[in-house]
Amino acid sequence: MLDTALKLLKELTSRSYKAYIVGGFVRDHLLGIESSDIDITTNATPKEIKKIFEDSCLPNEDYGSVTVLLKGIRFEITTFRKEIAYINNRKPVEIKYIDDLEEDLLRRDFTINTICMDENGEILDLLHGKEDLDQRLIRTVGNSYDKFMEDSLRILRAVRFATILGFSLDPEVKESISKTKYLLHSLSYTRKREELDKIFTSPNYKEGVKLLLELGLDQELELNHLERVLDSDTISLIGIWSVIEANPKYPFSKNEHELLKNIRSVIGHNHLDPMVLYQYGLYVNSVAGEIQGQDIKKITEAYANLVIKSRNDINIHSQDIMDLLQKEAGPYLKEIYDDIEKEILYHRLNNCKEDICKYIKEHYQ
Ligand code: ATP
Ligand code: MG
Repeated sequence: MLDTALKLLKELTSRSYKAYIVGGFVRDHLLGIESSDIDITTNATPKEIKKIFEDSCLPNEDYGSVTVLLKGIRFEITTFRKEIAYINNRKPVEIKYIDDLEEDLLRRDFTINTICMDENGEILDLLHGKEDLDQRLIRTVGNSYDKFMEDSLRILRAVRFATILGFSLDPEVKESISKTKYLLHSLSYTRKREELDKIFTSPNYKEGVKLLLELGLDQELELNHLERVLDSDTISLIGIWSVIEANPKYPFSKNEHELLKNIRSVIGHNHLDPMVLYQYGLYVNSVAGEIQGQDIKKITEAYANLVIKSRNDINIHSQDIMDLLQKEAGPYLKEIYDDIEKEILYHRLNNCKEDICKYIKEHYQ
């Protein structure tokens, strides 16, 4: 990965451009963590970058940066820039391409995200990010109040990096968050969810949740009962969202909504009960069981031992029942199915046609 990145840098520097790896990759590399994508900063303009990497450019959503895909690795190449004016405490509305690396680094969020690597793999640390990295500290580049006023997403990025890396927030950062956190109200729910998902999927998520609570961000983010997350262990992302009462404006897919609804309704039930397992399925019961601190292995075993997993597994057709009772189709069929389904699940009736017919004759003829 690094080899490919350094080759890419050389493509630029051999044409007399300045180019460096910056941001997450260098930070994580120094910490011995693997990254999945690489950010590159250069004084070449997007037009010039596109010309050099004509064959491997992806169509770009982001103005001012070019995405190149080489050997399956995503490279986000961004031109040195100064951000001039911001709108709604979020997006810079005006940027200016510049030629100076240091000036580009000054517009970035945290010192640990400003460490650069050149085409020879040498570290270049103009803003002393490494000191903060060694001290495991999240500190903004320059005045933190201004940084958060410019872009409120940085508040959540600070908590995200602190959580994932197990770092502390600099006291000045904490203080500025308390003064600017109200801005999170106007940050889009999609952005908020993206950052929260990264916090919640970290193995260190409980520390992240504690930090959100300590900073009072749960209120600003409209996450009621966030503290409930601290009560259970190793809960999955959907499990975490299901114990929080988040503002309904948070975006969830249809499938996620369905899961959240089912998990919430099955919490508190016995996840070894055949009917509960049958109705809600293994996944929903496992997540709910996990939230309640139950043994997932036992739930999985109980599910595997269900006699039937769906109505299709019942060894009788509607036509058989109609023939047996010599009746046209009608709502009584559902009633019979509900009944035999329950009898079979609780092992009171064998799932074989002969026994089922006998049962129906005895109870419904
Ligand atoms: P990761 O990719 O691991 O999530 P990252 O630090 O690489 O973390 P990116 O979102 O990929 O984060 O951004 C790349 C770099 O761009 C950051 O390291 C930082 O220097 C800068 N950056 C990103 N978002 C912001 C922002 N909202 N404000 C200021 N600088 C930012
Ligand atoms: Mg990155």
